[in-house]
This record gives sequence, C-alpha cells and structure tokens, in this order.
Amino acid sequence: MDLSIVIPLYNEEESLPELEAWIRQVMEANGFTYEVIMVDDGSRDGSWVAVEQLVEKNPCVRGIKFRRNYGKSAALNRGFEAVSGDVAITMDADLQDSPEEIPELFRMIKEEGYDMVSGWKQKRHDPVLTKNLPSKFYNWTARRMTGIHLHDFNCGLKAYRQAVVKSIEVYGDMHRYIPVLAKWAGFKKIGEKVVQHQERKYGTTKFGIERFIRGPLDLLSVIFISKFGKRPMHLFGMLGVIIFILGFGAAAYIGISKLYRLKQGLPTILVTDNPYFFISLTCMIIGTMLFLSGFLAELVSRSAADRNEYLVEERLGWERGEM
Ligand code: UDP
Ligand code: MG
Repeated sequence: MDLSIVIPLYNEEESLPELEAWIRQVMEANGFTYEVIMVDDGSRDGSWVAVEQLVEKNPCVRGIKFRRNYGKSAALNRGFEAVSGDVAITMDADLQDSPEEIPELFRMIKEEGYDMVSGWKQKRHDPVLTKNLPSKFYNWTARRMTGIHLHDFNCGLKAYRQAVVKSIEVYGDMHRYIPVLAKWAGFKKIGEKVVQHQERKYGTTKFGIERFIRGPLDLLSVIFISKFGKRPMHLFGMLGVIIFILGFGAAAYIGISKLYRLKQGLPTILVTDNPYFFISLTCMIIGTMLFLSGFLAELVSRSAADRNEYLVEERLGWERGEM
C-alpha cells in the first residue's frame, strides 16, 4: 500500500464527509493505493456516526474510536500504530489542510529521499493575534533551540516514511514537536513544503489559550529529555558541583579573612553577622540538593523500561547462521 492517511478528529462531524470525498478524489486521480485511518478522539457530536457511514461507503476507510478525549497526540500515536502504507500522512479533519498536497508530499518521500516532510502554512488563515503572531514567535524559538529549520513545527499536514512513525512515540502534547522526536530517533532528512491552508469551514478550534503555557513547557521537556534524559547526572551533577564550590569557596574566604584579621589585631564582626555568609550557605545547600536530584533522576532513568532500547536501522550477515 502506498499511503496511510491518519486523521485525528474531535467533534468534526460536518467536515468528515467532505474530507473523505476530497481525499478519495485525489487518490483516484493519482492511482494511489491507500487507507484513511480516522481516529475519533472521544467526540461528543455525531463524528463517530459519520465515520461509521464512511467506512461502510469506502472500503479504504478505517476508524478507531477512543472512549474519551485523550488529545491530538494520543490520537496520532494510536493512528501511527495502525499505519501499514509506505508513507504515512497526517492531516487535520477540519478541512483546513488540503488533500491536493498529498501527491507532492508522497513524491518527496519516495523520490527525494526525505524521512519526513512538514507542511508550512505560509499563508495562514487563522486569527492573526491569537494564532499567527504567537506561532511565529514560537516557531522561531523552536528553530533556535532544536536546530531544525522548519517554519511551521505544528502544521497538521505532514508526511513520513513508515519507519519514522513506527519509531516515535507521541504523548502528552508532543504532537507539536514530532519533527524533534523524529530527529532524535535518528531520522535526519527533514524537509518542508509550502502548503495551502483554508479557513475553518465548520466547527471551532480545539486549542485555546492553554497552549501558550503547554507549548513552551513541552518544548523545554523535549529539549531536556533529548539532551539529558539518559544521563540526568551530567546536568544536575555539574550544576550542583559548581554552585556548591562557589558557596564553599565564599564561606572559606569569609572564615579565613576573619582569622587573618584576628591575627593582625584588626576589628572583626561575627561570621554570622556577615550577610555574605548566608548567601554562601544557601549556595552550598542548593548545590547539594541539585546533586541529590541528579542522583535520584539517575536512579529513575536506570530503571526506565526503555533504557536499553535502541532503534536499529539495519542488520547484516545474520541470516547465514553458523558456519
Ligand atoms: N483534535 C483531536 N483531539 C483534540 C483536539 C483536536 O483529535 O483533543 C483534532 C481536531 O479535530 C483537528 C486537529 O486535531 O482535526 C487540529 O485541531 P484544530 O483544528 O482545532 O487546531 P487549530 O487548527 O485551530 O490549531
Ligand atoms: Mg484547524
């Protein structure tokens, strides 16, 4: 099979029939073999009924229904598990992403050898103040912090080689950072394609102001986990040691200079009357705590189930058996 199109959906009943018809038309025009995987993320409207009707109508459509709303990342993750096409496409269900882009995305993966191609909504049809501007700033930060040169990390329309979606785990709100997860899994050829974007025709956006808090926090965790997830002591231990040494050095200096002044017969104050003494004491305490956090984090990551799971790309010469 050429294509698996994964569509997370939450309360999108009006859009689904149109979306399916549009996808079918593009697929047939290009002669692709395909499947559409609709993941109903616990919708409360008639979305599942719509999916049932589409499955009935088109043998290429499959549906997965969550018992409750788990979020877009969960829906994508579950959809990825079900993918069986060579190339996986993700797109939003709200008709904002255009299926017309799929043939070119497919070609970029198959012929140009990209592992993943992300859409770029260069002309974006969303509210300027609440979506477009924050998203510009956010993408700039993500580019700087991850070293991946994409203009639109969170574009719903993306294409992946099958191995990519089978190697990554999207959880929490991590759907915003799938390119980072892919890079971290060892897939380096990540491209970008300018895609058409429409205004939302039916329904309303599912992401409100809470994304201003969750987005940046998730970016921090992605970066922390990718840099230090497997060796937290390298961060905490180093910081702890530096801060402890600063504090200890300062306290030693205060003590020694007091002794020196005593010996010289100069006037002195009690060490505990010196405000710097408390600053250095605090540094020593913070340093020790950071060090301990590093130890604890190290223990946690040592017992993580995936501590020795690596993504093997190829194995050679094993099928020959014993000689
Ligand atoms: N979505 C989902 N679960 C959620 C929230 C959203 O599956 O909890 C789906 C939604 O139905 C749509 C896609 O994710 O297909 C993108 O959501 P939306 O269009 O609301 O985001 P926006 O385009 O406003 O950023
Ligand atoms: Mg949308």
